[in-house]
Amino acid sequence: MSAQILDGKKIAAEVRNEVKQEVLKLKERGITPGLAVVLVGDDPASEVYVRGKHRACEEVGIYSLVHRLPAETSQEELLNLIDKLNNDPKIHGILVQLPLPDRIDEKTVIDAISIEKDVDGFTPANVGNLIIGDKCFYPCTPYGCMVLLEKAGIDLTGKKAVVVGRSNIVGKPVAMMLLSHNATVTICHSRTKNLAEECRQADILIAAVGKPEMITGDMIKEGAVVIDVGINRIAPKKLVGDVHFESAAQKASWITPVPGGVGPMTIAMLLKNTVEAASRK
Ligand code: NDP
Repeated sequence: MSAQILDGKKIAAEVRNEVKQEVLKLKERGITPGLAVVLVGDDPASEVYVRGKHRACEEVGIYSLVHRLPAETSQEELLNLIDKLNNDPKIHGILVQLPLPDRIDEKTVIDAISIEKDVDGFTPANVGNLIIGDKCFYPCTPYGCMVLLEKAGIDLTGKKAVVVGRSNIVGKPVAMMLLSHNATVTICHSRTKNLAEECRQADILIAAVGKPEMITGDMIKEGAVVIDVGINRIAPKKLVGDVHFESAAQKASWITPVPGGVGPMTIAMLLKNTVEAASRK
């Protein structure tokens, strides 16, 4: 079998277009969705992500304000800013770009974001709501994975899904979302025994490990759908996923490329969550 490509670039463009229409409708009601992005310090990768998010907001008509704070900002100053943003009616979504400098406790800062404005979906309250199936914001990368599956017309009911990776930002939430769509879910991690055997059971395989091309074609069931979340830079201009694309594509029915798969979906889902937050007003 040679897999069909699950084209994240194309699907993300569709989502952004839908968001643009929703923004227009909100503006007719006198609401301009607003996203505040907070960046502490001058990490070059974070700066690139923040610029990308700001540009994406502008393209769909979302008001976006980037707060660039110096690396020596104290935790108290950062918490004060979050408090201000929580109470700012022009701001519907707040995103604190991670990682934060070591001196600042990430958990305390994330926890300070109002649940109504937690468009990244990382606050403990939001995660709790996700688990109990209550109204919440889906964390953007897992949400992107789910939209890719939906757009490919894949019915998850009764399917065996295997998630490799158990991080709080990808592995665990995507597993919960697959479960809520009636898949039977296995979560694998660095202590899993016989990972290859676990992966070969998967009708849906989600790789979120951070190890270049670790999942190879022999670990994939014939006809499986493979979503590769991994982004690994192996040379200055070469990105690869956690899945060995060429061998996996021989077995899978659908596969996401890297780049151009899950990556573009993440920002698109952030825009969608911001509009959702504004429309709840
Ligand atoms: P983390 O490093 O937080 O988590 C990695 C997970 O992989 C851990 O649960 C770890 O297990 C597991 N793992 C590590 N080695 C193995 C192994 N040999 N076998 C099985 N499991 C293993 O990573 P993230 O979840 O943050 O990110 C994963 C990947 O996704 C990265 O490449 C990252 O760049 C990418 N990413 C992409 C995004 C996008 O927009 N496309 C957004 C976010 C992340 P254990 O818990 O036991 O240590």
